[in-house]
Amino acid sequence: MTVHTHILGFPRIGAARELKLALESHWRGAASEADLEATGRQLRARHWALQRDAGLDYVTVGDFAFYDQVANHIQLLGCEPARFNFTPEQSPLSRYFTLARGADTQTAHGDCCHGHQALEAGHHALEMTKWFDTNYHYLVPELSPQTRFSLAGERLLAEVAEAQALGHPVKAALIGPLTFLWLGKEKTPGFDRLALLEQLLPVYGALLDRLKQQGVTWVQIDEPILGLDLPNAWRSAFESTYWQLNQVGVNILLATYFSPLEENLSLTCRLPVAGLHVDGIRAPHELVSVTDWLPAHKVLSIGIVDGRNVWRTDLDAALAVLRPLAARRTGPLWLAPSCSLLHAPFSLATETGLDGEIRTWLAFATEKLTELSLLKDALAGHPDAAALAISRQAIASRRASVRVHRPPVAQRLQTLSPTVDRRDSSFALRQAVQRTRFQLPHFPTTTIGSFPQTTAIRAARASHKRGDLPVAEYERQMRAEIAHAVERQEALGLDVLVHGEAERNDMVEYFGEQLDGFIFTRLGWVQSYGSRCVKPPILYGDVQRPAAMTVEWTVHAQSLTDKPMKGMLTGPVTILQWSFVRDDQPRAATALQLALAIRDEVADLETAGIGIIQIDEPAIREGLPLRRGQWDAYLEWATRAFRIAASVVGDATQIHTHMCYAQFNDILPQIAAMDADVITLETSRSDMELLADFGQFQYPNEIGPGVYDIHSPRIPSTPDMVRLLQKASAVIPPANLWVNPDCGLKTRGWAETEAALQNMVAAARQMRAA
Ligand code: GLN
Ligand code: ZN
Repeated sequence: MTVHTHILGFPRIGAARELKLALESHWRGAASEADLEATGRQLRARHWALQRDAGLDYVTVGDFAFYDQVANHIQLLGCEPARFNFTPEQSPLSRYFTLARGADTQTAHGDCCHGHQALEAGHHALEMTKWFDTNYHYLVPELSPQTRFSLAGERLLAEVAEAQALGHPVKAALIGPLTFLWLGKEKTPGFDRLALLEQLLPVYGALLDRLKQQGVTWVQIDEPILGLDLPNAWRSAFESTYWQLNQVGVNILLATYFSPLEENLSLTCRLPVAGLHVDGIRAPHELVSVTDWLPAHKVLSIGIVDGRNVWRTDLDAALAVLRPLAARRTGPLWLAPSCSLLHAPFSLATETGLDGEIRTWLAFATEKLTELSLLKDALAGHPDAAALAISRQAIASRRASVRVHRPPVAQRLQTLSPTVDRRDSSFALRQAVQRTRFQLPHFPTTTIGSFPQTTAIRAARASHKRGDLPVAEYERQMRAEIAHAVERQEALGLDVLVHGEAERNDMVEYFGEQLDGFIFTRLGWVQSYGSRCVKPPILYGDVQRPAAMTVEWTVHAQSLTDKPMKGMLTGPVTILQWSFVRDDQPRAATALQLALAIRDEVADLETAGIGIIQIDEPAIREGLPLRRGQWDAYLEWATRAFRIAASVVGDATQIHTHMCYAQFNDILPQIAAMDADVITLETSRSDMELLADFGQFQYPNEIGPGVYDIHSPRIPSTPDMVRLLQKASAVIPPANLWVNPDCGLKTRGWAETEAALQNMVAAARQMRAA
């Protein structure tokens, strides 16, 4: 039997983020379009060479993008929204960056806090949103009855030619028509974007035809929406769509990933295409059915190497999965990572500082290529014994390591009391005790945690990291920053203060660095959007808190004021969600360990006299599984993890939580079940409409709906905020309302921050007087 290897896509940002640097220098005006194109060509050539050198049978073309693969398709399919009013003189690349960043490139999609999408009214960039359940953001196609498609971009065809000229066997990759429409947004109320399919298909047909003429034999067409709960009209559109595209006569490999196919499984296997790729990591339980259902002559591509994580593949285990499947099939078998490697860091080669033992447990995108070849050779009957032995040894070392499996952590988990996730008393009782203790006015004012991370703060941290600034001096500077933040808040007349998070680099990394079980890479960047990358920590082992993490800073801040000082922590689900996590135990188990570590910190803060503690969970919603059927199970353990972290305190200690992103209406019972005394939310951009859902649901605890958008440099006026608070008071009992911005202020400057907060405090005072 033939076994071939390929990938669905490769990280385009480059080993040392070359693409980021090139983009930013182009946007600054320091590099021309030609310079940027040259960097793009270089990166593609390098990445194809890596694929060839690792022994893959095809190189994948079409995964490269200067900003985003969906934006590439918007140009390719000729559907740039008319509102941009592009003129024929504008180059395709300049139009592309206008779609991505708006006309005013100063502020568009600016640097912003973790996991956030930074889009605002006033920027005319396309909206950004998360690509399925990843932390990658794509640009949302705008669709309306006026949308027209045409084969407009030559970029993909040129890249194919480029790869062919370099002598590579090419597989072209495209986003499928149904997934493209699904990811788009209807700009006209009542319009159904599926109605555009009929018009779109001939353009795909023409594109496939061009690819065929160019000598491409395989085209990978991604339809990851087959892993979602699809409305019937969308499901039934698949058959006719692929029947039509298949007429062109080029081999289509339909690619699915991220989620089990479930009720779409038999439909998918029957589609008239030449091959099917399935995600063997997210849906291993479907491999046997797919193998049996897929007609014998078709290519089955199995995603056997985890494209979403950083661990070395257990090759023996993978072969144990693959061998029986191979034996069941007569048709060709392809091996691949589960999904595009876009979501994995580039290479281990540059990670010279990593702990030697842990390093052997890892495989980044480049190393995953080699794993595919090892699997292929072993399946074909000529295993590379030496390489397999090294892999086996690394897997055994990880499995047995006492750094992964810390006995005290396991012991603690066994002795958890059944009430570990319950506060002592009901919210009503706690609220009464807390009101007596804190004596806060109505409409109490507070902020979400961070104050501006100034250049001085960043410079001090960088210099400390380099070893140029001694610990004592660095800490002295940070204490001074905290004192400054406290003094400003007192002057503004805020009611509940924060220390401002000056000492924190990032809300996850800061805690990861102090907990056992995490390591950090030097260049383990993953694209988040455009030129922006994140470097998630790697959570490799049992989590434990060796010492208090925030107590000294918080106590220092509290010592400077008589107002309550809010302790500030990141919650277990957010730490989990924004890290690469273990694959040797369920995510729920890792969340539980994180919860206990945060719980210890909460207890220490309380003991140190901190009366209000905020546990941020901005990522709780983005952790929702793609399939609704899995939501309950996730929400059950995620909210329990939060409650475990929070419930160690007495009734008089007030627990806050904070969440970003505006859609909560479908998970309100679970948010209420977190039982935080106060929740602060991002709401201003939805003009308080979100809050109506909380009101209707009769959300029982206190709420601080964000009254202004911190993503914008605009200074909100007092009347604007009063209006929002009046709107909020109409749906939530006013006695339960807090007044605060949408999110942390770390990306803002001091001047605008103070002006905005001054207006906010004035708005709260007007509400009290009313
Ligand atoms: N406490 C954090 C801050 O203010 C919360 C950030 C977030 O929600 N993403 O920066
Ligand atoms: Zn936030």
